[in-house]
Amino acid sequence: MKILVPVKRVVDYNVKIRVKPDGSGVELANVKMSMNPFDEISVEEALRLKEAGKAEEIVIVSIGPAKAEETIRTALAMGADRGILIETDEAVEPLAVAKLLKGVVEAEGPSLVIVGKQAIDDDSNQTGQMLAALLGWGQATFASKLELSADKATVTREVDGGLQTIDVKLPAIVTTDLRLNEPRYASLPNIMKAKKKPLDKKSPADFGVDVAARLKVLKTEEPEGRKAGIKVKSVAELVDKLKNEAGVL
Ligand code: AMP
Repeated sequence: MKILVPVKRVVDYNVKIRVKPDGSGVELANVKMSMNPFDEISVEEALRLKEAGKAEEIVIVSIGPAKAEETIRTALAMGADRGILIETDEAVEPLAVAKLLKGVVEAEGPSLVIVGKQAIDDDSNQTGQMLAALLGWGQATFASKLELSADKATVTREVDGGLQTIDVKLPAIVTTDLRLNEPRYASLPNIMKAKKKPLDKKSPADFGVDVAARLKVLKTEEPEGRKAGIKVKSVAELVDKLKNEAGVL
């Protein structure tokens, strides 16, 4: 069985985001970029399935600038087998990403695509669902547990009311939630080895997909700063303030 894992290059989750002075977007110059954390979880899950003998090959795909090759190499250093970079300097929206991934799926024929729940830059939470719709495949979103058998995946999902377990027939799309696993770090020897693993380069035109933006960003603003808090001396004072000042009790 082949598993396809899309990985996105995003601003590192430790970086404090700054809005560009002209409000046209978020500052990306000289900012540390890393693999989207949910995609690290997807790569880890695919590796565990391979180590358990449930999968033979893990293919990584990223859509982004030439530097997204580094993100693919990180996944290869974690243990994935090969990569595909669909190179573009455009900021590609989820629908165009899903159309490109559909093209990759048709060319590669994976039985399972493990997609992150959301990219932490745009927080769209759309790509996996759109890909399932475009392919006409089943989907299990927000997975916190995944078990594979020959023809189905059994997925425990994090839903508002708690946990829900469903079966989805393969081929399928699974999107990963935070509690699914803890991704491993790549070791130095594996980082060196990953430099030699195969990586194909493509362009959106190879898949006949127009990646031009459909959405227009009107303005980007910093959220309002939080007001300073105060310390109270006793529970009675806290209750009094909640009742008489905040009016929440
Ligand atoms: P989103 O719908 O933008 O929140 O992204 C959800 C997931 O789709 C991410 O965690 C990735 O697995 C995948 N994805 C989104 N954009 C890209 C991209 N440019 N390249 C590869 N995968 C992507």
